[in-house]
Amino acid sequence: MPDPIQAIKEWCKSKLTQDVVNAMDQGVMSAVPLYKEFAQEGLMEFVKPTEGAAALPNLTAAVKILAAYSGDFGNIVTLNCLGAMLLGLFGDEAQKKISEEMLRGEKLFCFSLTEPEAGSDIQNLKTSAIRQGDQWFINGRKLFATGAADADYILLAVRSNPDLAINRGMSLFLVPRETPGLTISPMNKIASNGFPSCEILLDNAPVKNDALVGGQDAGWGVIAFTGAMERLLVAAGCVGLCSRVVHYVYEYAQQRMISGKPLYEIQWVNHCLSDLAVRIQAADLMVKDAVEKVSSGANPAIEICGAKAFASELQQGVIMSAMKIMGGRAYLKDHPVERWMREGLLSLYAGGTNELQKNLIARKLPGLMAQQDY
Ligand SMILES: Cc1cc2nc3c(=O)[nH]c(=O)nc-3n(C[C@H](O)[C@H](O)[C@H](O)COP(=O)(O)OP(=O)(O)OC[C@H]3O[C@@H](n4cnc5c(N)ncnc54)[C@H](O)[C@@H]3O)c2cc1C
Repeated sequence: MPDPIQAIKEWCKSKLTQDVVNAMDQGVMSAVPLYKEFAQEGLMEFVKPTEGAAALPNLTAAVKILAAYSGDFGNIVTLNCLGAMLLGLFGDEAQKKISEEMLRGEKLFCFSLTEPEAGSDIQNLKTSAIRQGDQWFINGRKLFATGAADADYILLAVRSNPDLAINRGMSLFLVPRETPGLTISPMNKIASNGFPSCEILLDNAPVKNDALVGGQDAGWGVIAFTGAMERLLVAAGCVGLCSRVVHYVYEYAQQRMISGKPLYEIQWVNHCLSDLAVRIQAADLMVKDAVEKVSSGANPAIEICGAKAFASELQQGVIMSAMKIMGGRAYLKDHPVERWMREGLLSLYAGGTNELQKNLIARKLPGLMAQQDY
């Protein structure tokens, strides 16, 4: 069997051409058919997200490549991997089957937590689920549900017990997109419109009790796990995109002549690229360290939040440096830098904003400092 990472790279190189990637970015082309092709060629099987922590080394390696090629494509694969992972770990037998279908590209997943008044402030979640016999009726409004318009199933976070704090009164339902009472509308994003994020209105949407994932009022633990995995994958994606940008700018700086010499020979340019490559190496090691700790059964919350915040902020710096080094040409759509700049911003919010990561690190700072007491 060929090296799967090499196979994913080759696939991306041949399918995710600049024209295709730009068409997805602008929403002229959907990411869905390509995702199905990718999955049907068995490339999702390589990452086996249904195995949970054991899948992380391959999964993070794959996400680094995918994010480097296309925001849309990186997002659709990452989201479906996360979905397959959490249904594989927390789902009942029927839901585990759906996770296998997702890996074969037969079913698509969406995860919907965010609401107008509950983004960072998840305590304020308002979408309600009220039980009547064997059915629940869901009412509320969700925002930013990426992939909802194309999904077969939407994993909805709802308040199932309004009398309890959110960590004891939240449930997750795996809701078929065709359920009556759902109105799904794409939101107009600055990038990655080939895989739209959507508003979902829920008007008395009926859902069967067996659509619960992880049990009644037990959604918080699943959300916490999913959030941590998402942050780790966001960090991996940032490492991938950062490395792609540096390769691109390095090549450009070798070719571009300034006063008869390659741009790369100007000292601030080669120092800047060297500095970025060193920091990307640091971010990559942070991701690998967190993966190793999760794989060995630990819960490295600080390491994951730190890797996500560090890698996503590094990504903004890498892209701004690319804009500066390449001069005015970076501003043109002839080069992918402007798209990377738009796509790259998502990492600041995905998996929770960096301010929230830093809140968590601050709460646990003495523990981190104790590890650094030299
Ligand atoms: C393109 C895109 C795709 C997305 N996809 C999904 C998806 O598929 N499913 C989903 O459920 N959600 C999704 N989201 C939503 C994303 O998770 C939220 O945007 C994110 O959690 C932040 O919430 P918010 O946008 O409401 O910001 P707000 O919560 O309004 O935050 C505004 C600002 O206040 C700061 N802030 C808030 N609270 C604190 C605090 N306690 N301490 C310090 N600072 C604070 C934030 O850091 C931020 O700078 C997506 C978002 C985007 C942009």
